[in-house]
Amino acid sequence: MKTLSTLMFANSYSELATSLGMSVIPQPLDQPYLVHFNPLVAEKLELDPAVVLDTRFIEIFSGNKILANMSPLAMKYSGHQFGQYNPDLGDGRGLLLGEVITSTGKKWDLHLKGSGKTPYSRMGDGRAVLRSSIREYLASAAMAGLSIPTTHALAIIGSQTSVIRENVETAATLVRVAESHLRFGHFEYLFYTGQHQELQQLADYVIEHHFPELASAPSPYASLFKQICQRTAAMIAAWQAVGFAHGVMNTDNMSILGLTFDYGPFGFIDDYEPSYICNHSDYSGRYAFDQQPAIGLWNLSAFGYALTPLLNKTEIDDGLEHYQHQLQQQYSHNMRQKLGLTIADESDTQLFSELLQLLKQYKVDYTLFFRTLSQVRIDELPHGEHHFNALFQCTLALKTWLACYQQRLQLEPDTRQRLTTMRQHNPKYILRNYLAQQAIEEAEQGNYQLIEQLMTVLAHPFDEHEDVEKLAQLPPHWGKHLEISCSS
Ligand code: AMP
Ligand code: MG
Repeated sequence: MKTLSTLMFANSYSELATSLGMSVIPQPLDQPYLVHFNPLVAEKLELDPAVVLDTRFIEIFSGNKILANMSPLAMKYSGHQFGQYNPDLGDGRGLLLGEVITSTGKKWDLHLKGSGKTPYSRMGDGRAVLRSSIREYLASAAMAGLSIPTTHALAIIGSQTSVIRENVETAATLVRVAESHLRFGHFEYLFYTGQHQELQQLADYVIEHHFPELASAPSPYASLFKQICQRTAAMIAAWQAVGFAHGVMNTDNMSILGLTFDYGPFGFIDDYEPSYICNHSDYSGRYAFDQQPAIGLWNLSAFGYALTPLLNKTEIDDGLEHYQHQLQQQYSHNMRQKLGLTIADESDTQLFSELLQLLKQYKVDYTLFFRTLSQVRIDELPHGEHHFNALFQCTLALKTWLACYQQRLQLEPDTRQRLTTMRQHNPKYILRNYLAQQAIEEAEQGNYQLIEQLMTVLAHPFDEHEDVEKLAQLPPHWGKHLEISCSS
């Protein structure tokens, strides 16, 4: 187990093209204090969880001190925001502090979000508010608990530094941990600035560090693109199945490893509404929940175009086709798991769509519907609509669907494990917007109890947690359709 004294950093990213970043020293926060620490993330880094008790921990991760061997760097990238190319992006309020290498040789980037101004800050102050840091912290733990690929967060540090958003708020930092912070936008930047040699070097770097098995493939770059298409498909299929809307799927927020990345005004769906828009600045609904699969394709097309110095058109088209096929396959697979189906049948798509239609029509809580269904035995199904009384105003239409579902289950070779496996794929606890909001309001008063409780249940969202059963309840009326500011 490493301590702060034995924590060493590699800086392989900074050995790439110098145009890919600039060295920047973090700007200190005033009177920093620990808000929360995630020992599960420390474990990934092989870091002794007792590091949080070391007084240097807060100093380092509030930008007041850097460790020997750390060489903080603001990454340069660009990207398409809401469909428009923006050449001026980059780490405007975060720094790559260094790369931690574990005993098995795995690389983890340590990134400090909210660390002050950089050459890419444009008009911004380089800061992150406590509110948005808590949202990212909870969301990354929630996704990890759901086994959805994501970046992680080691800790949040609060401070007395004031920042101005809609109101005056306090600044915080989030210690982000990810296998890589490379985005589609890194490649777009090198492509649009004509740095095509550097682009190839970056692709080689990604293969070397993240897809070493592709180095010996007949066309390594085409295989790399295809792999990234596949990872993106798996990520978005998982979002659609769990009811997660990212909210800002700009290409600078798309990870080359298919990690859910850069949590902003995201939202988990309460009542099922496919056109749900979680980002209230997204006037056209470009990033609405049901648009995410198509936006994934759009983003991969933009990424593929940026790879044209390395790929021909057929290779790009193959990757994009692979994405569409994989997304469909993965989504069907995930939905089957939610329904306890172990074999594929051609009637399944209709079964899913009729169910989703019902959930939409009756504005039913998506998570609780599936969790409740995970409690109803096969023999109970035809008369089982009373189980759903709390979720449906009228269960008559549901009755018909339950009968179809029971019939479909007859095709299964073995249904003895059905309820157990369904409960392993249908979370009881999700990070509902109102819960995140309550946790934020309490934390702003110095009370971190709800963050603590949420971190416990979100790490194991499929288990029962009897002492905090309330966190699995339907949202109160005020907690539905909360408008989440995209300021952060
Ligand atoms: P985001 O919407 O968080 O993905 O950010 C988009 C771009 O704006 C990135 O290049 C960020 O680094 C930058 N940015 C966002 N907020 C700030 C801020 N408060 N100060 C400086 N740059 C920022
Ligand atoms: Mg971003």
